[in-house]
Amino acid sequence: MKPRILLTNDDGITSAGLWAAYEALSPVADVTIAAPSTQQSAVGRSISIFEPIRASPVVMNGVRAYSIGGKPTDSVIIGLYALDIRPDLVVSGINIGENLSFESIMTSGTVGAALEASNQGTKGIAFSLQVEDQGDKFDDPRHHSQSFDDAKRIVREVCMTVLLEGFPKHADVINVNIPSIVKGGYEVTRLARKLFETGVEKRLDPRGRPYYWINGPLLEDAEEGTDVHAIRKGNISITPITLDCTAFAADKELQSLFST
Ligand code: MN
Repeated sequence: MKPRILLTNDDGITSAGLWAAYEALSPVADVTIAAPSTQQSAVGRSISIFEPIRASPVVMNGVRAYSIGGKPTDSVIIGLYALDIRPDLVVSGINIGENLSFESIMTSGTVGAALEASNQGTKGIAFSLQVEDQGDKFDDPRHHSQSFDDAKRIVREVCMTVLLEGFPKHADVINVNIPSIVKGGYEVTRLARKLFETGVEKRLDPRGRPYYWINGPLLEDAEEGTDVHAIRKGNISITPITLDCTAFAADKELQSLFST
């Protein structure tokens, strides 16, 4: 029997990246798409609890899928609890744009969906493809100029390896980043601290009041062993992620501060 995969993303159900993942996985797995109806990049793991969530059956590219009127995390929750998909694995992506470092883990909707899945008891893998131009992340995701050929091979290899061999016991999520041009092989990495040099651009509205854009250039590199450095080298970065954010090393210091 084929393994069952719930496929979602954050760029929305029309994204070429999502459909590349579908093409990669559908020959080897029973894939059901439940993905956000609209662009949901950078919503992280947020959930819709003040609005109803619609799960509209659609046919796209000749495939039956669910277009979810919500966030990536909503799509996972609806997929797991309302649509009776019962997946062996949740796959999120392929995101158009790399999701590297502490920053991306907390802000990426692609990673957010995988974190949610794992917290709900089904392990998740997030796939992201580096863009040559950061502006590409803001273009219509139906059309992406880069080839998904390498990314499709990697999605299939990683998912089938994990499905056949078992998900690493101490990881909740695997975060896979694919360089725009693959030069090397797989590299198991840790998260770098930052991906962007965060900045703010101030502008004036037509009435002379200020408004702001969060913006900033990419950091060129990070230490050896990090996800950022692996991608700079052209390797495929594989980072094991854990849901438990407890800082165990801070236990004693915090106890000494607050014990009575
Ligand atoms: Mn995205």
